[in-house]
This record gives sequence, structure tokens and C-alpha cells, in this order.
Amino acid sequence: MAFNVSRVREQFPILKREVNGQPLVYLDNAATSQKPQAVIDSLVDYYSRYNANIHRGVHTLSQEATDAYEAAREKIRAHFNIEHSREVIFTSGTTHGINLVANGFSSLLQPGDEVLVSAMEHHSNIVPWQMLCERTGAILRVIPMNREGSLIMKDYEELLNEKTRLVFVNHISNALGTINPIEEIILKAHQHGAAVLVDGAQACSHVVADLQELGVDFYVTSAHKMCGPTGVGMLYGKESWLEKLPPYQGGGEMIAEVTFEKTTYADLPHKFEAGTPNIAGGIGFGAAIDYLNEIGFDAIREQEESLRDYATEQLLAIDGMVIYGEGTAKTSVISFNIDGIHPYDIGTLLDKMGIAVRTGHHCAQPIMDFYQIPGTVRASFAFYNTLEEVDRLVAAVKKAKMMLS
Ligand code: PMP
Repeated sequence: MAFNVSRVREQFPILKREVNGQPLVYLDNAATSQKPQAVIDSLVDYYSRYNANIHRGVHTLSQEATDAYEAAREKIRAHFNIEHSREVIFTSGTTHGINLVANGFSSLLQPGDEVLVSAMEHHSNIVPWQMLCERTGAILRVIPMNREGSLIMKDYEELLNEKTRLVFVNHISNALGTINPIEEIILKAHQHGAAVLVDGAQACSHVVADLQELGVDFYVTSAHKMCGPTGVGMLYGKESWLEKLPPYQGGGEMIAEVTFEKTTYADLPHKFEAGTPNIAGGIGFGAAIDYLNEIGFDAIREQEESLRDYATEQLLAIDGMVIYGEGTAKTSVISFNIDGIHPYDIGTLLDKMGIAVRTGHHCAQPIMDFYQIPGTVRASFAFYNTLEEVDRLVAAVKKAKMMLS
């Protein structure tokens, strides 16, 4: 069916809201996306009709819940073209997935081993690795970026050596929206025998990552960035890696047999899924994947690119406007400042006009330090945004500028 933004918006109840007496313009999609009725219904349906704990019960409700949860795992597997569903680990989100892998590598790294992080990571793809380095004596090295918001690939190649064990990099930067050349990053790392973890939190609502084709070792994401619920995400790991890594947490669900002398662990994926999971969230994650595929990723890209291009042109016409990461391929994120005005002040005034944007360092302080700025205003568009909303953003930014200058 042809893409029709008005029809799409009807499916998102929150978009009918008013904020500060104005119709809401929601442009904070990179922080979290809004939820369509189909996802909300899947949660309500689970809690209203078949709420039960999974994997353990012989009764009908437990079986229905288990089937729905495992069907969601299968949807995730198929969507990301993952070979085996046992390579799909349900997590509470991207942060959890990264910590799970970083913890696992504690027993695999030696003092003096090197791990590479990119200069444009979210804090959740920096801090767990710093903690890992502190525990193991491994050394953290940084792949630098340039002012256009690209990683400097020549420097990356020079950093790779026989001591490099791991490279972690985001697929798309949350602060700038710039797209990293992960195919090349993975290829080069593998040539040096290093494993790669890609943080896909910002990518999955815009593109479909084919994980077998990429050959990536680990890929993590959060459902809430893709129209799904909060508190659930996925970690993909190549089976050989997941077999090698020790469990992250101990508890129910992740064991084969427990005695006080010795416990044996369950097979994949349950080895990494201790305790009662976010069952409703997992089911909602599956519903979100179905929903996005029904809209279609080509239609999503087309709509988001037209919003981004139109907004970029309009915003750049404002005196003193600086957009960061222009000059590199990127998604529908515009991270900007106006000369002499603090981003927080612009964000606060935009909110008064019903427009939701994010201001600050976007959990990517090293990027802000690189540009020597306190933060940016970030407008991030989703396929359910409209050109009229861009007009409202631009008019509001002009008004804020006038009030603050
Ligand atoms: N990495 C990136 C690139 C992100 O944008 C985010 C969310 N802002 C995260 C990691 C963390 O995701 P979560 O808070 O869902 O764990």
C-alpha cells in the first residue's frame, strides 16, 4: 500500500496530544520512538488474555505465553537475517547487551590486549569497556573522528594490530545521525583477528541490518527505538562467541542442573536469560517489527529523507545556524546550535511551543568535547512526522532565536 502519512499518524494515539496548548510535534525520536496501536494492543492482549510465566508451566496460559514470546524471537531472527534463533538473546536493551558482552570478555582478555572504541559512541558503548579494561589490564584506544562527523578510517587501520581483540562502534551516531562504514570496519577488524560489536540502537528504526551478510560478531539494539516497548532489546552473538562467553547473571531459567557442588548452564539462548524476562516487552518487540515491515523500510527511508532534507535547507537559512555532522551520510537527525545561544534555552522555548526536541550532550560527551560545545539541539525525525511539522519547528526556532538574541 502507498505510504500515506495521515493514515500512519492515525495509528499513533499519542500524536493527537496537545502540549502547552499546541498540537504536539514530536521530534525526539532518536531518544525513543512513539508506539503504534498494534504494539500497544499486543501488550494489552498479553496482560488481558494470557499473562503467565514462560518456559516452565504445563498449563495452557503458560504455553500460550511461551509460544508468543518464542514467536517474537523468531521474528527478530528473521528480520535481522540471523542464522539460528539461539543466537538471539533477549535483553533489557542495548545497554544490557553491551554489558553482557563486556562482562563475558573479562575472562578472555589479558593485560596489554587492546580494544578499540570510536570517538562518537554513546556512553553505554564506552563505560562498560572502560570498566572491562580496569578489570583486565587491557588498553582502550580511540578511533578518531573529523569535523564532518566521519571516523578517520586511515587512523583506524593504523590502530589495528596483533594485540587488538575487540572493536566496538555504533552503526549510526545518536548525537549526529551519521552512518558509520561498519562493513569496512568489520572486514578490517577480522583481518587482524579482532571481534566486532556493533551498537545498532540508532540504526534499526531506519535500516534493516543483514547480520549474516555483515558477518558481525555481536549486534545490539533496543526495541523502544523501533516503535516497540521500553525495557526490552536484543543481543545477537555468533554462536561460537556465545558458547565461549560465560553467563552474565545467575538465576532461574539459565541453568540445566543445580546442586550445591556444581551448577551446569542451560543451552543457548537461555544461558544468558536469567530470571523471568520482560515477556510482554518481548511480544511487543515482535509486534513492532511486524509493524515496521508492514510500513516498509523503503517508505520509511523516503519519508525520513525528505523531512531531513527539507528541514536542513530551512534551518540553514537561519543566521548563525551550525549543523553538526553535515557532509557525512546520515539519517534523519539534525543536531544544531545557533551562535551565541545555549541549546538548553532553545529546547525550553520549543517545548513551550509544543515541540519536543532533545538538548544537551546526548550521552555522547566526547563528541561535544571534540566540537568544544556544551551540547546541541537535536531534532530527530521519524516516518510519522510531516513537512508541516518541519515548518512549525523552523518557525519556532526563528522565534526562539529572536527572543534569546
Ligand atoms: N547506543 C546508542 C547509539 C543509543 O542511541 C542509545 C540510546 N540513546 C543507547 C546506546 C542506549 O540504549 P538503551 O538506553 O535503550 O539501553
